[in-house]
Amino acid sequence: MERYQPLRVDPAQMEPGTKSVVVMLNNYHQPLDLLEGGLRITRYAQGDDYHDLLWDRMRELAAFIHAETGAEVATRPAVDTAPLLERDLARTAGIGWVGKNAMLIRQGLGSYTFISEILIDLDLGTDVEEAPDRCGSCTRCLDACPTGAIVAPQVIDARRCISYLTIELRGPIPRRLRPLIGDHLFGCDICQDVCPWNRDAPISDAPEHQTRDIYRRLTPLELIGFDHPRYVEVFRKSAMKRAKVTGLRRNAAVVVGNTGAAEDVPRLVEYLQNEEEPLIRGHLAWAIGQLGRARHAALLRTILADEQEPFVRDELEAAVRRLTGNRSSASTTRTQWRAQTGS
Ligand code: SF4
Ligand code: SF4
Repeated sequence: MERYQPLRVDPAQMEPGTKSVVVMLNNYHQPLDLLEGGLRITRYAQGDDYHDLLWDRMRELAAFIHAETGAEVATRPAVDTAPLLERDLARTAGIGWVGKNAMLIRQGLGSYTFISEILIDLDLGTDVEEAPDRCGSCTRCLDACPTGAIVAPQVIDARRCISYLTIELRGPIPRRLRPLIGDHLFGCDICQDVCPWNRDAPISDAPEHQTRDIYRRLTPLELIGFDHPRYVEVFRKSAMKRAKVTGLRRNAAVVVGNTGAAEDVPRLVEYLQNEEEPLIRGHLAWAIGQLGRARHAALLRTILADEQEPFVRDELEAAVRRLTGNRSSASTTRTQWRAQTGS
């Protein structure tokens, strides 16, 4: 980020000759993030990969602008492919304000939108009025965040944010944060869900944004067992590929640990015994520790005897301790989670 700081401040440094930036919003809002099979997926990732869609639309618009004006036009999909401060650009363009949840909010549309930009070497004037900040004294997003990741208005501590933990983080999810992830498989919409400006946000009817049927039927337990071919088949052209197959399976193990039942333990043990990836073995051990009974501790001790990986050994030992000790704290955490999210 530091390396890109000058570019993030001035689009003209990224695209020499830029005199104006045209900023666009694209509504992707879908009704639910918790799907029938038990996967909770952030709304923006329930349809097709937004990058392709935005590129196509922006190229079309850029070609139109070029044909009409002769201006040189560069297209930049805002979403994580260029070091631009998209939300600030959108705010400067008068499109909306940046809420305390750090999302761009537009009155009448809400915050379930993609931002994209066209950089253009034509001065379009500066007579835009910035939209007023309409958060007022509201603190719903800060209060609702299950991990306390919104540390101040518009400031997110990514290390605690479920979106970061379930999408960007490549290694183990910190053990103390796993119960707070609840049933979030990929991303988190809580701080947008509770925002009053999203209460009447229109639902997108664009075919590309519609929730894929296959996600509706999928269960977290089934997803843990995905091999690479199955992953490619289900998540083809999906933004969820950002987490890679290992990340999604790791997340699914956490979700099952948080929302499953003792009846799931035999399947989890079977997965654990056949799993090659240490990251997944460690999270499976944790899930068994969450759901199992004291009798499962002996089984985990047997698995521990053959385990070489320090991370997995540590997780197995923690799970055994949990199964042979007091389980009440985990139950309380899950109850607190459900009370917080209303799910
Ligand atoms: S996305 Fe979820 S975890 Fe991240 S800040 Fe918002 S509510 Fe908190
Ligand atoms: S929930 Fe309230 S404080 Fe948070 S972004 Fe929405 S209006 Fe602003």
